[in-house]
Amino acid sequence: LRRVVRHCIEHEPLLLATLAGVAVGVILGTALSFANLSPTALEVIGLPGELLMRTLKMLVLPLITASVMAGVCALRQSTADMGKVARYTLLYYFSTTMGAVVLGIAIVNIVRPGRGSPFDQLDSGAGSCHTANKEKVASHAASTGQHTPVEAFLGVIKSAFPDNVFAAAVNMNVLGIITVSLLMGAALSSMGPEAVPMINIINIFNDAIGKIVNWVIWTSPVGIASLITTSICKACNLAATLEALGLFILAVLLGLLLWGFIILPAIYYATTRRNPGQVYRGFSQAMATAFGTDSSNATLPITMRCATEGLGCDPRIVQFFLPLGTTVNMNGTALYEAVTVIFIAQAHGVVLGAAGTVIVALTATLAAVGAAGIPSAGLVTMLMVLQAVDLEQFAGDIAIILAVDWFLDRCRTVVNVLGDSFGTVIIDHHARGWTTPAAASGAAAAAGA
Ligand code: ASP
Repeated sequence: LRRVVRHCIEHEPLLLATLAGVAVGVILGTALSFANLSPTALEVIGLPGELLMRTLKMLVLPLITASVMAGVCALRQSTADMGKVARYTLLYYFSTTMGAVVLGIAIVNIVRPGRGSPFDQLDSGAGSCHTANKEKVASHAASTGQHTPVEAFLGVIKSAFPDNVFAAAVNMNVLGIITVSLLMGAALSSMGPEAVPMINIINIFNDAIGKIVNWVIWTSPVGIASLITTSICKACNLAATLEALGLFILAVLLGLLLWGFIILPAIYYATTRRNPGQVYRGFSQAMATAFGTDSSNATLPITMRCATEGLGCDPRIVQFFLPLGTTVNMNGTALYEAVTVIFIAQAHGVVLGAAGTVIVALTATLAAVGAAGIPSAGLVTMLMVLQAVDLEQFAGDIAIILAVDWFLDRCRTVVNVLGDSFGTVIIDHHARGWTTPAAASGAAAAAGA
């Protein structure tokens, strides 16, 4: 162990510091949760975490805009067949999200966490904390209007075409920002030499953001420790909730572990014949940040840096597809939505049957696509899945699940980031061989000459 630690100190000091940050957060949070800290004390302890979150979120908008535009402009010099890259990326996103949902459904039906009416056990001794959560969920439900699946689908499409660029930026409509940046990049790269200065500026801007991300990463261990400490302290009725929801937590964790650490690496090995261990190593900083920040959007700057610097992926592929994947490809969230809705049905003795299960599978996929990469977004879009199978009268149960969501959300965010990471590396591996017919014939002519 001493040798491993010494190796880490010499070669991976940042990773070691981040893991130490996670450990300190868990220990300090558990110890302080007995101390009944005042809200002000919690705010002070949470300050470094809050500052980390704010800085990362601040970087996301300029990062996505600059990197997508720079990525599209760089494609002009690329010989890669980007149509093929796009098709396979979408195929990867869709099939892995669906795969994760199917795994979730299988596990929740095997473990059956809803047996023993866990919500009834908690309702009797719920206390003020769950009541406050219930109010939060009710106001969320009212503000989101509990969309039907069709409305939600149309909403996702519409948000990709914003009618106001500034509104899209202010509301962090990531899909909309990607579309605007794509169009701008495409327009610039279709222009002549007069566009070159602007393209250079975008590239310089992009590199500058990368530099800031680097600085932020070095402060992240302290922020991660602070974020984890405060969320453990704020968790309500932890012991009682853990006891009642133990099987549910187990089912979710089992699904996430199987997906993130058995199936995704197996897909990676089957498609590239490479050692998946390198991917975990290369993305370890992103995984730790995802766990700490609870947000795949906030982690995006770090995921992109891991992909290009840690694994040597082509920046054009990374700049183009990681922002999109972060928004639409959420394996962990999809699995979680399916497990939770079927768990709620089981807990109330509702049998969903084959048709109900298929509806859950489809709407959970859609809910994951529609969820933003921010903390607890998956719980909000879950209202739609509940509604699709006529279970909206049990939406109040989400309030009880909120009590353990601070932890489960971190775990599924790690799997969301892992899904994007494996996808990027797989596509990057294959894209090197996918050249456009024109580029291929040019290369052949050059070889012939
Ligand atoms: N927190 C998750 C993410 O950022 C989204 C969710 O499932 O709530 O990826």
